[in-house]
Amino acid sequence: MLSTQLKLDFPNIQTRLTDVEVDQLSKAIRSATALTMGPYLKEFEKNFADYLNIKFAFGLSSCTAALEIAAMISNIGPNDEILVPAHTFTASALPFLRKKAKIVFVDIHPETFVMDLQSLKNKLSPRSKVIVPVHLYGLPIAMDEVLDIATEKNLIVIEDCAQSPGAEYKGKKVGTFGDFGCFSFHGQKNITTLGEGGMLVTNNDKYCEKILGLRKIGARPFIDQEQYWKPAMSNIVEAIPGEYPHNFGLGEIQAFAGILLLKRIEQINAIRRRNTEVIVKELADFPELQFQKIPSNCLSAHHLLPAKYNGGKYNKNRDSLIEQLYSQFGIKCAVQYYPLYRYELFKNNGYSEKDFCPNTEDFFNNMISFPFSTDMSSEDLQYLIDCLKKSLQKLRG
Ligand SMILES: *Cc1c(COP(=O)(O)O)cnc(C)c1O
Repeated sequence: MLSTQLKLDFPNIQTRLTDVEVDQLSKAIRSATALTMGPYLKEFEKNFADYLNIKFAFGLSSCTAALEIAAMISNIGPNDEILVPAHTFTASALPFLRKKAKIVFVDIHPETFVMDLQSLKNKLSPRSKVIVPVHLYGLPIAMDEVLDIATEKNLIVIEDCAQSPGAEYKGKKVGTFGDFGCFSFHGQKNITTLGEGGMLVTNNDKYCEKILGLRKIGARPFIDQEQYWKPAMSNIVEAIPGEYPHNFGLGEIQAFAGILLLKRIEQINAIRRRNTEVIVKELADFPELQFQKIPSNCLSAHHLLPAKYNGGKYNKNRDSLIEQLYSQFGIKCAVQYYPLYRYELFKNNGYSEKDFCPNTEDFFNNMISFPFSTDMSSEDLQYLIDCLKKSLQKLRG
């Protein structure tokens, strides 16, 4: 029960557009020459590719759409095994489930909270086809080790970068290591294209025509078209035999918002990094609260602020901490990522306790995700820190 006023809610918007950006957007709406598949999309794609230092970027309606297209191009069937962490957002696995492939759930590392490479190795089989490294909470996976495995076993790598735009592993941006990188601009991500949006990136020329043919109802120019209206305005292609195209377009005004926010992504990530560092430092005297370990060769995008509460020695658990923060201080936290094999959708499709991943279970049962956003005021940050200290102290008894 909330006995006080709600003071800090878990945010639905991670980064707001500034007033200046809103003005720029309204100008863009007035001067737009198209509302979809126009010049803003091209510009956003070019800027995004340049930012990552990758050859090709394709704007899409979501990161799930990007994963869908990557799955379609990867030619996945029911005999293939797809290695996905059990601790992630559903969309990391969904496109592969739709392909009727077997999802092999990989456990997480207890300190980094992301895919554990030993667990990954243990779960390889002759049927393994794709690895989906998810740079969760903004933290990159050790991609050179993933690539070593992928090269040795001839596997496709589809990076889920929904939570990690701008994150770096050994100085190189995530999304540029694998065959494909998939990004999200959903309203709850570090940068947004006004609610929904995504990007599929690749360095591989051979995927480009396929992506273009699958992204927007198969519409592609005729080759050697003599008149613009003959034989028709555009062709409808079958980019991959047996795969039918989607309508996964990203609108022009959304793309324009993406252009604006991409300009300050470094600043956005830096604010998030600084706020994380402040909280972690301020809570150093409470080792029972274990924050995500960030290896020294990684630059995180600090998408969220998760921690594990090890209250066992005080006979307390995570729920007591959430309850304290909520009822005493009006701070609403979140618990993240129900192990995927526990969801109805996965259970109804053959997944169950046999897919159990111990670290995933342990983390889910003990994790707490604090309210955190780019635009969080220093007062809110301080309030969170003060209340956390008081709550943790109280729980020590
Ligand atoms: C948000 C998210 C997605 C899906 O992104 P959408 O743009 O909403 O489709 C995929 N994977 C992870 C890890 C996410 O957090």
